[in-house]
Amino acid sequence: MPSLAARMSRAKPSAIMAVAEKAKRLKAEGRDIISFSIGVPNFLPGDHVYQAVRDALTKDSGQYGSNRGPDALLDAFIKHLEENGLTGYGRKNVATGIGAKHMLYNLAEALLDPADVIVFPTPYWTTYMDIAEILDAKVRLLPCPATQNYKLLPAQLDAALPGAKLFLFNNPSNPTGMVYTKDEIAALADVLVRHPDVWIVCDDIYNRMVFDGIGYHNFVNARPELRDRVIHVDSLSKTYGMPGWRVGFVAGPEVVAQAMVTLNSNHITNVPEVVNAAAVAALSGPQDVPVAKNAEFSAKRDIVLDALAAIPGLVCPRPQGAFYVFPDVAFAFGKSHNGTLIANDVDLCNALLEAKGVACVPGSAFGEPRALRISYTCPTPQLVPGMQRIQEFFAELR
Ligand code: PMP
Repeated sequence: MPSLAARMSRAKPSAIMAVAEKAKRLKAEGRDIISFSIGVPNFLPGDHVYQAVRDALTKDSGQYGSNRGPDALLDAFIKHLEENGLTGYGRKNVATGIGAKHMLYNLAEALLDPADVIVFPTPYWTTYMDIAEILDAKVRLLPCPATQNYKLLPAQLDAALPGAKLFLFNNPSNPTGMVYTKDEIAALADVLVRHPDVWIVCDDIYNRMVFDGIGYHNFVNARPELRDRVIHVDSLSKTYGMPGWRVGFVAGPEVVAQAMVTLNSNHITNVPEVVNAAAVAALSGPQDVPVAKNAEFSAKRDIVLDALAAIPGLVCPRPQGAFYVFPDVAFAFGKSHNGTLIANDVDLCNALLEAKGVACVPGSAFGEPRALRISYTCPTPQLVPGMQRIQEFFAELR
């Protein structure tokens, strides 16, 4: 049998899916499982989205569509950018694709040659590493532990950018839920201005999921001269509860948006017509669902943080966005649970799942082996007992 391409030895299935699969298996065996593992929003978009799909079906052309996306969707996304203070983007600056994951992959293909250096903070969203590995880019990681609130410091960025081709930044963050303040973004933007040879990709897909009135801030608004190097990545998956619809966006310099169009013309051709109709309705229709969900997630964040605060030794910066909490649990390493040694984050997540039926993702999946990720999108009647079980687990460590 001929061999697979060498790059496939570097491609790994998602570590998050592995935990989710194990939780699913235990559930199928009849165990009472509470899953805090996958980052799925757990709600549906409003009825107007489904109505738009029904309407679109009645006039579906059945034909190939625009590689960039239909004008109605480009315009709806441009309006969404404007609502975030990002004005002056036209249709030539934007493009659509099959989710943010696809857009990030396209961007890496368009901007990186093999052995080019990509810089990003750790903890990072797992796929960043996978994309870099598949494309044979060199990764330069910037460690941002809990002791610095999982946030990148300007001096760290300054030291890491010489020789780099691309800086990848995620705000609000998956897995930490941390959100950069206006001043923090401005300080990082000042650094970026000093490194004119670096592309800046901002994975902002949680930009509408921000709590405590802190707001979403970005480099372009902080330093407009960065506009010709900054690319924003966005998605309907989280904000609108539409992960399976697979709609993602980029906004940036014309040449980059055009590169996305060229790659689309070779890879996917277009996002399907009925999906585009759903996307236009989500972006332009009533925003009650995302607004209500944001309030709900902020209340759930508090439930999780209150429960974690009662666990002595655990350190947890206070997240202000997305739907994740990322406690540093390293104090537990070296202890045992019912005779099972907890040497690291993977042992801890396995023991927690086996003993208490609660699924969390080991921090090492995100490049931070001191932590674990709790995704709190499940209904509140599961969240509360799930957090109680986590408290019991830690109290039983010896
Ligand atoms: N970026 C981040 C930070 C994410 O958390 C996710 C989804 N987990 C994505 C991108 C991919 O989103 P999409 O569903 O649009 O592909």
